[in-house]
Amino acid sequence: MPETKFKKSEDFNEWYNEIVELADLCDKRYPIKGMNVWRPYGWKLMSHVDKLIRQEMDKTNHQEVMFPLLIPEKSFQKEADHIEGFGSEVFWITHAGQNELEERWLLRPTSETAMYPVFSQWIRSHADLPLKTYQIVNSFRYETKQTRAFIRVREIHFFEAHTCHVDFNDAECQIEQDKQIADRLLKKLCLPFIFNKRPEWDKFAGAFYTISIDVLMPSGRTLQLGSIHQYKDNFSKPYDITYETEEGTHAHCHQTTYGMSERLLGAVVGIHGDDTGLILPPDVSPIQVVIVPIIFKDTREKVFTVCHEVAEQLTDKGLRIHVDQRDVNPGNKFYEWELKGVPLRIEIGPRDISNNQVVLVSRDTGEKKNIARDDLINAVELNLDEMSQRLLKRAEVLLKEKTHIVDTLDEAKEYDGIIQLPWCGTDRCALEVEEILDGNTLGEPITNDESVTEKKCVTCGKPAKTWMRFAKTY
Ligand code: ZN
Repeated sequence: MPETKFKKSEDFNEWYNEIVELADLCDKRYPIKGMNVWRPYGWKLMSHVDKLIRQEMDKTNHQEVMFPLLIPEKSFQKEADHIEGFGSEVFWITHAGQNELEERWLLRPTSETAMYPVFSQWIRSHADLPLKTYQIVNSFRYETKQTRAFIRVREIHFFEAHTCHVDFNDAECQIEQDKQIADRLLKKLCLPFIFNKRPEWDKFAGAFYTISIDVLMPSGRTLQLGSIHQYKDNFSKPYDITYETEEGTHAHCHQTTYGMSERLLGAVVGIHGDDTGLILPPDVSPIQVVIVPIIFKDTREKVFTVCHEVAEQLTDKGLRIHVDQRDVNPGNKFYEWELKGVPLRIEIGPRDISNNQVVLVSRDTGEKKNIARDDLINAVELNLDEMSQRLLKRAEVLLKEKTHIVDTLDEAKEYDGIIQLPWCGTDRCALEVEEILDGNTLGEPITNDESVTEKKCVTCGKPAKTWMRFAKTY
């Protein structure tokens, strides 16, 4: 039986590093740093997250594609900012067997440069637009900083959507839709988040602007889960993605991308877990209800039979159920499934069978309820739903408690978490704040309230143009 050494309430980072392995999400012993093995339980969990992403992509008329992992150097080098942004993180393939390749290939760090030369051949006329594609693949970045499972890795499981539009406005509509997708998806993961319009000096390489999706971890650091990029025609020009307009002229497409990574899982682990282990949101938990038989010698077969009847009843409703029939004492089973974050546990013993009931236990509260067999399905669905709401509410409280809107740097220094300050709009002032607060610029809120213009920049004292958010980041 795995034992936890660290408590989330005492040392979040160590707790995190330990729990991802103890709960069977990943194995960090693979001999390349930052490339972890997905264990079956962790991969199942990720695949349920991917499923939600696919549902959202389908609902919004994106088409799934699968582009090659390798990108020729020539394609990669067409957009200058992009190369500058990624150049140092790229893994190159230089040899095939003993022979040096005539042209180097790289492992995709992201797929713009793989897709866009092909898009320029797919798109001919305005009737081909919008082109909305996505893929769920692994990408590669040579991380030099300390790696952390799901949060900072060298092989990254992620989804990337790439769209092409007739003009800037149509691309803007896509970005509005992307924001709604983030709202729906992250709600299912019970994760409150903020959008931040990234500062000019820290936007995605080649983008016109970038909006990040950030969550707050219990350590007070923020974690960027994904981003939405407006490219304008920054890529369609070098990659020659044009179309024939209704008037018969030729124009460059406007493009967007949208990406989120396995960090979604990192956030789920970090934000919802507790000292006992993971707490998984019911929508993505590989097992939603674990059934533990309470066994005595003479009633063993009978109890198993009822457990399987209950399992079948719930499985028929589309729920993910597991009956833990192992020859292990129930206490150890409880411990293990709590560690793995299964939302609900059902206990069934001989006395429950005579009373025509089951015992239902919620992972997050530990509350035990006797549920009549006749009411089982309703009770399980209701309890899963209530648990999702509790997880979201709890995370919202954390985000709110650790977000501080202040007028001066002295005030800012008193807090950890997300600090929102009035800012004049110059790089110099923001970079100075970064240095003083020892944090990073997250960006501006995407909806800025006018009242900020009555305030003064915390650094130079000139009239503020906007709010700016800062935090320590992962
Ligand atoms: Zn200033």
